[in-house]
Amino acid sequence: MVVQSGAGKGALFADGAYEAKGARIKGSVSEAIADADVICKVQAPTVAEAQSLPQNSAFVSFLQPAADLDLIAVLQDRRITSFSLDLLPRISRAQAMDALSSQATVSGYRAVLIGADRLPRFFPMFMTAAGTVPPAKVLVLGAGVAGLQAIATARRLGAVVRAYDVRPAARDEVKSLGAAFVELELEAQEGQGGYAGEQSEDFLRRQRELIGKEVVASDVVITTAAIPGRKAPVLVTAEMVEGMSPGSLVVDLAAESGGNCELSKPGEEVTVGDVIVHGVRNLPSSMPMHASFLYSRNISEFLGLLNHDGAFSPDFDDEIIAGTCVTYAGEIRHAPTRELIEGGRP
Ligand code: NAD
Repeated sequence: MVVQSGAGKGALFADGAYEAKGARIKGSVSEAIADADVICKVQAPTVAEAQSLPQNSAFVSFLQPAADLDLIAVLQDRRITSFSLDLLPRISRAQAMDALSSQATVSGYRAVLIGADRLPRFFPMFMTAAGTVPPAKVLVLGAGVAGLQAIATARRLGAVVRAYDVRPAARDEVKSLGAAFVELELEAQEGQGGYAGEQSEDFLRRQRELIGKEVVASDVVITTAAIPGRKAPVLVTAEMVEGMSPGSLVVDLAAESGGNCELSKPGEEVTVGDVIVHGVRNLPSSMPMHASFLYSRNISEFLGLLNHDGAFSPDFDDEIIAGTCVTYAGEIRHAPTRELIEGGRP
């Protein structure tokens, strides 16, 4: 077990902590990976990093393969056995390896703290001698892992929370956390494996018409809606933001994948009159200690599946291995990525 020197620094884990657990520390990436059979990382490698991976080694990280075809071509050429944790099937056996879920938990929590920090009002209701303060009104759009964590956190802080999701299964989950489910006269959009299906522009237009008054009536809107492998749907328009009360804000967790708010810019705060649109980027890295703690557990569980009696021997009949494998022995195993590469890159 070799760790690149300083790899844990941003999460406040010193090199000595890894050595105490039996790992060896190497000064540079090239030294650290030189003899490695399996290399684990948080973010996808750059094309240059991928070119320096030992031939025939295995690589585990978030790759988002369909969005980076040049990288996948290098992994294929170098006969790397690559696995992308964002492709992990949503089955109960895979839950302990589910890095998307563990990081979404961090994002949902942090999004509420950003909202509470930037809002010029209290979250909880207060009845004081100096007057009664009403609770903040929080609207959560998209009640998957991040959305549910946002609801739970906002409730703990005392806000009144409303939420909406296109999957009917989300209704009971939202209610069980003490939030109200916003009922819209729209058909369900259930996709595969617990995810939402891709929605037509007509559906999204009708959704925007119905959700607009909910957005305008909220102090904090947290948007988390995503469709795997697609651009995030636009749910909050510029007109809605302009209609919000002074001091209110939108925290857009989908800013990096296209944005649920049409004004979001990833990593930036956009001000529209007296309303802030906060387009968050890589929120898990803003809480590195626990984000790393959870991600490392996901990785070690996944590595356990790749090993049999101490040898690296992935079983490609296992749906978790088959589902996450992107390249193997010079082939692209992830069908949508293969089709994109064979069909000519966009
Ligand atoms: P996600 O990040 O892909 O999307 C976030 C949410 O946005 C989803 O709930 C989706 O339905 C919703 N959404 C999409 N379009 C929308 C729209 N137009 N308006 C409102 N909401 C919209 O999803 P996720 O958080 O990764 O998880 C989705 C589901 O998978 C959840 O039900 C979760 O409980 C389930 N899950 C299961 C497992 C498992 O069984 N191993 C693991 C993780 C998640």
